[in-house]
Amino acid sequence: MTDGQRLHIEATADRQFGTNSYLVVDEATHDAVVIDANLEPELMVRLVERRAATVRAILLTHTDIDHIAGLNRLRKAFGDVPIAVHDSEREVVTEGKPLRREFPNALPTFDNVDVLVPGETYRAGSLEFEVLHTPGHSPGGVTLRIGNALFTGDALFAGSIGRSDFSNSDGVALIEGIRQQLMVHPDDRLVFSGHGPVSTIGQERRYNPFL
Ligand SMILES: [Zn+2]
Repeated sequence: MTDGQRLHIEATADRQFGTNSYLVVDEATHDAVVIDANLEPELMVRLVERRAATVRAILLTHTDIDHIAGLNRLRKAFGDVPIAVHDSEREVVTEGKPLRREFPNALPTFDNVDVLVPGETYRAGSLEFEVLHTPGHSPGGVTLRIGNALFTGDALFAGSIGRSDFSNSDGVALIEGIRQQLMVHPDDRLVFSGHGPVSTIGQERRYNPFL
């Protein structure tokens, strides 16, 4: 992202899990990405139409079913745009390999899947995201930063943190990732999480009882 880039950020949430999907639009170019694909993709398809945005990629903070269930519909609506995911959860998307031993259902498979590499920038049209590794809820959990916005998936929520009771979760890694990758940001940085309302790093620093 270049200095002064104006972004429009808007969420849709499904009614079953309250999982957020986000649309991030560069207001100058109308290039856009969708972050996570919740259970009601139709809401996102309509939002993209309303904003007259051009979706350049679909980014995944992680691959729990409520964050990927809408992928098929989004791909149909937006064309064969890249889906980007951390390498350790790539097979969930490319092979349909379930993320959780606890939920062994078969999943659809996709091609044109990019890797989100921690410490590197992911570019989608005129949008650039910094990739931060925030594992623990799941091995390939990432936070995506653009400008003053952090998309934290199910690592950090307003007033809470993600579950770490699945067989491939790691509660220590979750806290460490949040402290080292997220709490180092300035107080006014916005937190857009996988569920629930928007927050700021400052608010979480002061009031989050899990940190
Ligand atoms: Zn979730």
